[in-house]
Parts: sequence; structure tokens; C-alpha cells
Amino acid sequence: MNRRLTLPTEAASQPPVSYIPTPTAAYRQHRKAAEVVLEPGPPRTGLGAEPLPVPFGLGARVLMWKQDPSVGEIGTRKVFLPGLVLDGPRDARITFGQPGIDAVSPNAFGDYVTMPDTPQFDAVHTYAVVRQTLTMYQRALAGASGDSPLPWQWNDSANTAPLVIYPYGLPNVMNAFYSRNQACLKFGDFVPLGQAARMYTCRSFDIVSHETAHAVLDGLKPQWLLADNPPQTGAPHEAFGDMTAIFLTLSQLDQCEAIVAQTKARLHDKTFLADIAEQFGLALGRPNGLRNADNDITLSQAGTEVHALSQVFTGAIYDVLADLFALARAPEHKDDAVVLHQVGTTLRGLVLRALIAAPDHAASYADVVNAMLRLAVDDGLPVATRNAIRNRFVQRQVVQGPLDQDHVAGVDLLPGVQDAPGAVQDRRACCGTMNLAEYYDVEGLLDVERQLLTKWCAEHGRAGGAPAAPSP
Ligand SMILES: [Zn+2]
Repeated sequence: MNRRLTLPTEAASQPPVSYIPTPTAAYRQHRKAAEVVLEPGPPRTGLGAEPLPVPFGLGARVLMWKQDPSVGEIGTRKVFLPGLVLDGPRDARITFGQPGIDAVSPNAFGDYVTMPDTPQFDAVHTYAVVRQTLTMYQRALAGASGDSPLPWQWNDSANTAPLVIYPYGLPNVMNAFYSRNQACLKFGDFVPLGQAARMYTCRSFDIVSHETAHAVLDGLKPQWLLADNPPQTGAPHEAFGDMTAIFLTLSQLDQCEAIVAQTKARLHDKTFLADIAEQFGLALGRPNGLRNADNDITLSQAGTEVHALSQVFTGAIYDVLADLFALARAPEHKDDAVVLHQVGTTLRGLVLRALIAAPDHAASYADVVNAMLRLAVDDGLPVATRNAIRNRFVQRQVVQGPLDQDHVAGVDLLPGVQDAPGAVQDRRACCGTMNLAEYYDVEGLLDVERQLLTKWCAEHGRAGGAPAAPSP
């Protein structure tokens, strides 16, 4: 088929939207002719409902940043989202709610393809990353593990309210957060010091998937987000955010291919996979993103600092990923990108299910790792996979165990470094979610002050029931 080739010099001068492949006239003619004799009929929902009008039953194409906008080799790509996507965009679980910006309507093909750097593009991009994240984890639980819609924390049989997205929810704020009380994700935008261009956190693939992960995990383990938990219970929340950005990247074959090409299949080389929130990191002068998953931090180095603790878990999982990829590679038989995609699928399933299997309150890192190992046995994964998981978490001081023997199925590993009794979480370096007042017992703190005030008043002759002082 004839396709118009674009010269590199010409491509460089075109806006990103011009990269969308467009069917040729000959192909369109062929499709029209085929439709005459091969009319598939209107799509059906499968729920016994009336047939849906075309094109809504077919899913939607969207144009989105597939990594941070600063990762030039990925840029914008067109993506197909299966399922019903309506004006907003919105679906049953996620909706766009930014005041002052009209809902985005689909084009004639039912697609949401808009120009980058516009409010419409930001709405579509943010929705798409949230949708992809939720779908990825729903798929991880599909089949043998038992399907789950992964409800939001507030969902019950009487409340199916969706998660609301505010791409510009925090103007002039260098942050983003998930709020349970507001049932939403809010993203900040700001002008970095010494720079002219405004930076929008909603445009970051990593930041949007990170915040969505907080919402997903809060629906599964509502106690974990509360600040009165031990540090090793709060840290998985932050780690899950960063791991989700990695898993969502690995769920997309084009990104796997780019990572393989960038690193020559060596995941410990510098790669956008390990660099989390690159554009935000650059704004702060950090060349490896806001965080780097390919780190060597241990539990004893992290202490009670939840952000550092989260890096320990994310770093161990990144090491396991690199190990499993190296073990599974067989370039003479299978493309490296396909293998990386498969390894990512396996690991994200283990992590999600291990988090679910861990205790609902005061879970420790060792609880999660032992759950991963039990699930690996249940799934019939090779002992080399279990060895890699055990060894990397032994190196991080999460569990104890020999590094030179095979993992023994059915025997939980002893914890390594544990939280000290009564240890309090230090969340200062975490993302906006972990620092929201709603996850702290702030009313309890205010009550302490109120009780002191009551005591002082009683001791100083200001008995209760006295007439209130006149208003000024
Ligand atoms: Zn976070």
C-alpha cells in the first residue's frame, strides 16, 4: 500500500498531532467497498440493552502524552481505549470535572483527538492515564484471581460515584493529590523558578498514574493511608504510586520497545522507565526525574522517612524487574520488547495481589514480600523468580534469608529491619496525597488543645454556662 513518507526535516517542523497515521485514499475506498458486503451490524453492549449507536459502542481513540512531555522520544501517541467513553471525557468510574472548561466532545469518529497544550488535550490526556491505570489493575485481577471492578474507597451498593479529575485543580501549586473526602484527583501547575513556561503536572504520565494508584490502593486498603499507621504501612502507598507509573509504562508495547532500544536491553542503564516524573524533576534541577526507581537505598538508611522508605520498596521491585527480564530474555526466539511486556505483567500482578493479601492494618514490608512469594508459588512461577524476589528484598533488609540457596516454598521469611515500637511516619517529602490533613487525626490534635483550654478556664473561674461575651 502506498504511504506518504515524511522526511525527517519536514517531520521536525510539524506539530506532534501530524504524526497520527492516516489511512490512504485507496485504503478508505477498499474499506467502503468491504462494508457493502461485510456490514458487521451495530455493536451491542452484551448486557441485553438496546444496540448502541455507532461509534459509541466501539471505544474511543485518544491522543495523549505517553510519557512526560520532556521525554522526546515518546511524545504524543494515539491510543485506543476500549469501552464507552462519553463527553468529558467520562465513563462510569471516572469523570472530568474542571470548572470553567467545557467538557470535550468526541469528533465524528467518536474519538478525542485534540491539539497538545490546550485544555481539551489536558482533559483527555489526564482521563486516559487514569482510565488506563484502572483498566491495567482490573486486568491483573481478572481470571483465576477473581474479577474485581476495584471500587473507589467511597463506593458501596448505594454509592457508585466516580472519581472526579481536575487537571487544573491546584493553580500555582507545585503538587498533585488524591483526596478521598473530595472523591477526586487534583493536579497543580506552576512556573518553575527562573523559567518562562508553566509546568502542568496533569501532563505527566508518571504523576497522573502515581496519584491514580493512591486512589486504587485506598479502595483496597482504606486504613493504610491514615498517618497513625507505622512507617512501613504508609510507605507502600507511596511506592505503589511510583511502581504503577513503571507498570503502566510496561503495559504498552511501544514503550517497551523504546526502553529496550534506549538501554540495549539493560534496565540498569539510564532510562525513562526508572526516572519518575522527568519534567517535574527537570524543573527542580534533577536530571533523573523527581525520583529514580533504580536506587540502592536500604531500610536502615531510610528510617521513618516515608518517601525514602517507599524508594526502598520501589528500588527492590525495579531490581527484581531487571533480574526477571534478564532471566527471561531469549532474543533468538522472542522480541525483547515482548518479553519485557510479559515480565511487567507478571510482576504487577504479584505486587497488586500481595498488597491485597497483606494485613488491613499495620502491614509491614515483610508481610507484602512473603505474600508475593506465596503467590509466586501458587502461580507455579519458576524458583529462579522466587529467588530473585527474595534476594533483592534481603539486600534491602526487608526480609532475612540465604542468598545462595533456592527459596523454600511454604516457609515465610523472617522480617529484616522493622519499625521501632511507636515509630511515627515522617511524610514531609511525600506527594500531596500523603500530606493531606484528611489522613491525619487533626481533629484529635485540636481536641487536645480544646481540653487544655477547658481545664484552664475551669481553674481560673470561667465556669461553663456564663453569658457569652458580646460580639465586637
Ligand atoms: Zn504519592
